[in-house]
Amino acid sequence: MASAVALKMSNFHPSHHAAGRADIRRPTHGRVRRDGQLEARLSLSTLLPKRRGGAQLRPLACTAGIIKVLQHVAPAPLREKYLGRLLDPNYDTNFNGAQYLTEVQGGSDVGANSVWARPEDTDSDVWYLTGEKWFCSNVTADLALVTARMGHEEGTRGLGLFLVPRHLENGEVNNFTIRRLKDKLGTRSMASAELDFRDALGYHVGSFKDALQHVINTSRIYNAIGSTANGRRALTIAWTYAQNRLAFGQPIIRFPLVQAQLARMRTDCAAMLAGSLRIAKVMDDIELGRASEADRAFFRMAVNLNKYRTAVLAHEVIMTAIEILGGNGAIESFSVLPRLLRDNIVFENWEGTHNVLLAQVQRDIRKYAIHEPFLAHIRQLFQAANFPELKLEGLAQVEIIAQELGRCWRWMS
Ligand SMILES: Cc1cc2nc3c(=O)[nH]c(=O)nc-3n(C[C@H](O)[C@H](O)[C@H](O)COP(=O)(O)OP(=O)(O)OC[C@H]3O[C@@H](n4cnc5c(N)ncnc54)[C@H](O)[C@@H]3O)c2cc1C
Repeated sequence: MASAVALKMSNFHPSHHAAGRADIRRPTHGRVRRDGQLEARLSLSTLLPKRRGGAQLRPLACTAGIIKVLQHVAPAPLREKYLGRLLDPNYDTNFNGAQYLTEVQGGSDVGANSVWARPEDTDSDVWYLTGEKWFCSNVTADLALVTARMGHEEGTRGLGLFLVPRHLENGEVNNFTIRRLKDKLGTRSMASAELDFRDALGYHVGSFKDALQHVINTSRIYNAIGSTANGRRALTIAWTYAQNRLAFGQPIIRFPLVQAQLARMRTDCAAMLAGSLRIAKVMDDIELGRASEADRAFFRMAVNLNKYRTAVLAHEVIMTAIEILGGNGAIESFSVLPRLLRDNIVFENWEGTHNVLLAQVQRDIRKYAIHEPFLAHIRQLFQAANFPELKLEGLAQVEIIAQELGRCWRWMS
């Protein structure tokens, strides 16, 4: 039987571990020990892709999700058992996490999950899970949150959330096996696989609603930070190249069209970073009990829109960087840009496709008129802006969007 440490270290690119080690050892990961630290923690994670660490964001996001579930909803004995290992600042010995929701018949439609769980006895937290999970990233994780059906109720209401350890108390490997590794387009330094569960032990820790609140929303912010970081790295490469590449006797950065491209990229990167950290701050306020109902409504809409928007903008920024490098942009051995593009395509998919995020926002607008507190929050931000032109232009744009959304809402409801 492979020990947990040997399994963690096997068959990965050394840079993957170097990035993980850097992030875990810095006083970043430890911040998730306390509520209200997400903004500070994620500010430092934007540096990860500089060290081939884009693919590390997935394990970090999942680990943070498990920590939140243990802190907020899991029974106390489980918290005591696992929290210390998850927060251990030593990368070589700490526990890291994964989350397995998607099945072959549906990822967006989680309510179609069919992996099922049976309890050990009537009042036990110990259950046994059987069935197949189709996309399992960070498949060497020590702990995974897994959704499984607990009874006959259909849809997401019938789903429970289980904490599944890789190793059992006696040191043996838990009853799930890797059927096949995914041959992925991007984030290839982190392993994703298909898994078969056959009476695998899992601790019941909550419901699908808990997964949404503590795991998926956290992951969506980490994902947005990952896209932001990919974009920022592409910008740095393009900017440096433009200063040094000569064409027609001068550095290409002197051409107004190149300047316009770089200015656009820089604006998009600033928007991605500011937006994502703002949303992390609101999540911190929610956790600390400092948020109003309106803040919560803003968060609900913003977390989905921002995950969508950062993925799209990062894609555009990376594509523009490739364009600025000319032919060299398309060469794998010349720069990291081709890999960033592939990684970013995966970022666009995990934690919700574009359509699915937008459909969720549309449902929330129709049901709860959530666009009103969302726009009120944005209005407040522009009202506090220091630059009069920005303030006027921003407020005018908000009014245009408010009128359009108001019309859509009346039409939908
Ligand atoms: C590299 C990689 C790693 C992954 N790792 C994990 C993991 O660790 N754990 C995990 O649980 N999952 C993981 N996933 C799965 C990922 O979360 C799903 O692929 C994603 O949620 C989409 O689900 P799907 O593939 O079933 O696509 P589908 O749900 O079948 O979607 C297909 C298309 O239909 C569209 N669509 C679906 N529903 C609607 C709707 N209501 N309105 C409009 N359009 C809609 C989608 O936007 C998409 O374009 C991973 C995926 C990838 C690519």
